[in-house]
Amino acid sequence: MNAKVKQQPGRGYVYIAGAGPGDPELLTVKAERVLRDADVILYDDLVSLELVDQYNAVKIYTGKRKNSHHFEQEEINREIVRHALAGKKVVRLKGGDPFVFGRGGEEIDTLRAHDIGYEIVPGITAAHGASAYSEIPLTMRGISSSVAFCTGHPVGNIHVPDTDTIVYYMVASTVHDVLDAVAAKGRSGSTMVAVVQNATRYNQKIFTGTIDDFRTREKTVYSPALLIVGDSIGKFIEHNWYSRKKKVLLTGGDSSRYSPTGCITVHFACRKISGADLQAVEQAFGRIGDFSLLFFPNRFSVKYFFRFLFESGRDVRSLAHMTICSAGSAAADELRKAGLVPDHHLEPDAAGGYAGSFRERGITGSHILLPGSNSVDDTLVERLKGLGNEVTPLGVYAHEVRQDEAIDLDFIDEIYFSSPACVRNFHSLFTSIPERITVTPADLATEEAFRRLFGH
Ligand code: SAH
Repeated sequence: MNAKVKQQPGRGYVYIAGAGPGDPELLTVKAERVLRDADVILYDDLVSLELVDQYNAVKIYTGKRKNSHHFEQEEINREIVRHALAGKKVVRLKGGDPFVFGRGGEEIDTLRAHDIGYEIVPGITAAHGASAYSEIPLTMRGISSSVAFCTGHPVGNIHVPDTDTIVYYMVASTVHDVLDAVAAKGRSGSTMVAVVQNATRYNQKIFTGTIDDFRTREKTVYSPALLIVGDSIGKFIEHNWYSRKKKVLLTGGDSSRYSPTGCITVHFACRKISGADLQAVEQAFGRIGDFSLLFFPNRFSVKYFFRFLFESGRDVRSLAHMTICSAGSAAADELRKAGLVPDHHLEPDAAGGYAGSFRERGITGSHILLPGSNSVDDTLVERLKGLGNEVTPLGVYAHEVRQDEAIDLDFIDEIYFSSPACVRNFHSLFTSIPERITVTPADLATEEAFRRLFGH
């Protein structure tokens, strides 16, 4: 008998995984694990950025969003193979389930042809997500005992099976054609119909009526949307459990400090943390002896400051002459990772803000180096100067407002701002916030920034 040969290390592996319909929590435990282990994630249009952003892998967007490179299926196949042959763990992440209108089959053919190992991780398909989040049972005792998943595209090839419930995918531009086909098959005009747009996302929207209602009404349907036909659709689904929940928008990269219970939370990074002005950073390190106090206003300022410090060949000994100050526990934790305990630990919510805490501690006549983002908090700088200090802000990371995932405030009940920079970035996207929305600032400085910019 021949012994089995263990697969050679160095050869990659591919997971074809479903990301679920939209709500980032509708992911299987297995998909979560493979995403965490992945070296490369190739993800589609319908996969939420909020989900993909959580992982460290190299992320490659293969969808068809505006202003971005359009990948043909062939090219996607080539990319998957290229990374796998380079020995990487690749996750091919698709909206919903990979085998429900997901072209997973074609990708597998390619993997087999190249003798690349793979697994398939199922996902919650849009029909199941929509069903649960809009309270439409797909089967119901006495009303519906069968269900079919069909495509509403292309128009010339619309199937109308004899099931009690039919769920049509890809209907954004074909709702009327599909309903004409359903009516032509002899379904009663009083049969219930629902369109579920953005199912399981904070901006889920549902339209219901009968087949006759829908055929006489002109309705714009935005993608992604499903059309459900069948009498298990109840009359009150517009007021389903999901639409009744409060929706809270959490801005900032790190919003773990705020976790409202019983609410739907929507993350909006509002920024992308990236590079810094390297020349300015190098200059500051070159004259580090001139500074007497180092003040870290947040976690990111610590993380990036030390990254650059170490990259420049220095270590914490070059800071030995300085007083070190940090604000908030996240920054203090990050400092500890670098082997430092701050001399002064400031509370973000202290009365009078940071400048108040500096005054209380009698910090004056210092030359303060203030690492932070490229968007300098002028008010803080002025106040610290007002106490008789010299202040040098140093951009160690950049805030860039990300506009690729716009937020529709119509669906939002509360906004949490995690920092003054988030308020400023948000203000560059939305000049006003509707009255009905509650605003929760993380601390006093954030509240001040909010009042200043939004005039509340
Ligand atoms: N593999 C996916 C389907 C891909 S086809 C799955 O299993 O769900 C793309 C179609 O899926 C869209 O045109 C739309 O009809 C449907 N779809 C995907 N996500 C959706 C969502 N959040 N809400 C409504 N429809 C969705």
